[in-house]
Amino acid sequence: MTKTQSIASDIRLNNCLSNNDNPILERDERFYAHLDALREKQLHYAVQRSTYYAASGYHQFSTVNWQDMPLISQEVLRNQHLQMVCTSSSNIDRIVTLMSSGTTGDPKRVYFTRSDQSDTIQYFKVGMDSFTAPGDKVVIWLPNSRPGSISELLSEALKLGGKQPKCYGVMNHLSSAYKQLIEEKPDVIVGIPIQTLALAKYAEVMGTPIRVKSVLLSTDAISDTVVKTLEKLWHCKVYRYFGMTEMGYGGGIECEVHNGYHLYESDFYIEIINPETGQVVPDGTWGEMVITTLRRHGMPLIRYCTGDVTRIIPEKCSCGSNLKRIDRIHHRVKDPIELLPNQLLTRSELDDHLLALPSLLDYSVQYIPNEKEKRLIITIYYFGDTIHQENVLERLHQIKQVYDAVRSGQWTLEIILEEMLPSSCPSPMKRTIRTSK
Ligand SMILES: [Zn+2]
Repeated sequence: MTKTQSIASDIRLNNCLSNNDNPILERDERFYAHLDALREKQLHYAVQRSTYYAASGYHQFSTVNWQDMPLISQEVLRNQHLQMVCTSSSNIDRIVTLMSSGTTGDPKRVYFTRSDQSDTIQYFKVGMDSFTAPGDKVVIWLPNSRPGSISELLSEALKLGGKQPKCYGVMNHLSSAYKQLIEEKPDVIVGIPIQTLALAKYAEVMGTPIRVKSVLLSTDAISDTVVKTLEKLWHCKVYRYFGMTEMGYGGGIECEVHNGYHLYESDFYIEIINPETGQVVPDGTWGEMVITTLRRHGMPLIRYCTGDVTRIIPEKCSCGSNLKRIDRIHHRVKDPIELLPNQLLTRSELDDHLLALPSLLDYSVQYIPNEKEKRLIITIYYFGDTIHQENVLERLHQIKQVYDAVRSGQWTLEIILEEMLPSSCPSPMKRTIRTSK
């Protein structure tokens, strides 16, 4: 994104903020007053219309004592989603059910009206316009099985911007995705990070050179290694998009500086808390991201704990945009495992070290911290040249926590190599470390 484009995006976002007149380009008193007013309005709307917010004492709060307000856990969203709805069922256009791997109990459910979905289309349009041009052919490998799916909304946004979208749904087979890639010759690809990386590595082995202008990755934490590898294999620019289903897929997007996501501040209020204490931490400090929707009609979320660990980047971005940034999603709050006392290991660190291996398409991690037998089992899924255990071991030993754990004699590290068939594909689910006891 050029400086001009970036500021153009600001104007569009801030036009929303100021009801289409007097765009606000500076973070001045007027800017903050508008954001505060949006927060107050959303809180009032939720208290007036939802039995959950009405019964939980939210009427006592405002932007003045905001940080004293309760936090909404994922458990609350799982158990009380229906009570959080603020409109009649006839106004609900789409309900998204979120199943998490390894979680028992009810799934989380999020409810959207048509106007909520129109807002999503607007975020997507602003984001996509910043790095695509009219006429661009955009191939999308994201969920597409239901009306109002992320692919459908993105597709609508792209058409509004004069682009040519093509939705293929979530990737199921590398071989068929490769065939689609060869046939379509897209300018832009949108996909899930691990699946897009696997496709690029698969295409490399198959030998047909692929040229795309840019790639947009979303729906999971995105390692720098994934970005660098894709840029190298496809000679393209890679943008990361931050959005959660709970946020109606909105959130923020990278600019040309590729250093954090510029937030859609007129739609979401973001706080970072210490997950242990629930207290807000200063800008620049890593912690759990808490979101508040500012314009949601179906099911507003007020101080919802996302479980994602990031930080607010305090410095202004060198692209010139005034919009606040958050850093990459580093890991999930519950993700780190403790190999030795105070030596935590995250999936992101494993991604950074392992995903650069050429034939490695994916891997799974099993963590068995039993008293008698502590085992870390890494299963590598590869295609093309066989990966040797020594290569994997060398990479793993570059991670201090893993190296120290093995050297201590307390942990056994096992590496299993499995060929991934072209008729399969890495899972689209969020990546975690599996714990077995
Ligand atoms: Zn920027």
